[in-house]
Amino acid sequence: MRDHEIDLCGAENGGRSPEMPFLERDAAFSFRCAGCGGCCRGREDIVLSGYDLYRLSRRLGLPPKLTARAFCKMYIGTVSHLPVLRLMPVKEEHNNCPFFTENRCAVHEARPLVCALYPLGQEISPAGEVRYYFQATRCGGPVHQANLTDYLEGQGIAQREPLDIRWAQCCMALEQEAPAWEQTLHPVVLRRFQAKLGEALYYRYDLNRPWLEQLEENLAWLKEERTRLEKMQQNIHRKK
Ligand code: SF4
Ligand code: SF4
Repeated sequence: MRDHEIDLCGAENGGRSPEMPFLERDAAFSFRCAGCGGCCRGREDIVLSGYDLYRLSRRLGLPPKLTARAFCKMYIGTVSHLPVLRLMPVKEEHNNCPFFTENRCAVHEARPLVCALYPLGQEISPAGEVRYYFQATRCGGPVHQANLTDYLEGQGIAQREPLDIRWAQCCMALEQEAPAWEQTLHPVVLRRFQAKLGEALYYRYDLNRPWLEQLEENLAWLKEERTRLEKMQQNIHRKK
């Protein structure tokens, strides 16, 4: 099973290269940033987790599905075989992120994990071990010195880490199961199941309730839905 990676390259295409070593928790690192907003321009690769969408939806005061309809594109990942949600760039504005306005992030306090992490990448193993690595940038501007633990706290990443670990584990487990669905489900039933997956992972969330307990409920619901769809498929075969 491959590890779950979140970095600047996006979860579907990303991957830590050997020249990006993992950082110890007390490691110091430095990077340059001029605050030019360049990393929000021309972006077509910002992948959201279910928790990212939940946070954005709370910030915008919109149900998750409406937030996704307005700002995202969902498709089935070629690597993961799971529904993937990306922020949809604004074509008329040089493919900038839809939340990039007046040279700043309009949703800064609810920005996706990949944005909060930058210039770090995150890797989570199936066992839930989380590690961070540094992605060298070619940016200019003042040098920022940081310590990993303080950086993670300051960017709000440490606070959400348990939720991101659970999300990663859940995606890795579903990714393992995906080939079986594709082999056993009729294409029409498979499409219905993929829609249920999208609901369970991204949309079926009440913004007034904590996200994690709803993810667990949705995973149980997804199992029931799969059984129901399999029974439906068997009944159709029997009638033929
Ligand atoms: S990281 Fe680089 S591109 Fe992004 S705001 Fe800083 S200087 Fe600009
Ligand atoms: S969500 Fe905010 S920080 Fe992330 S790319 Fe968009 S504007 Fe930039």
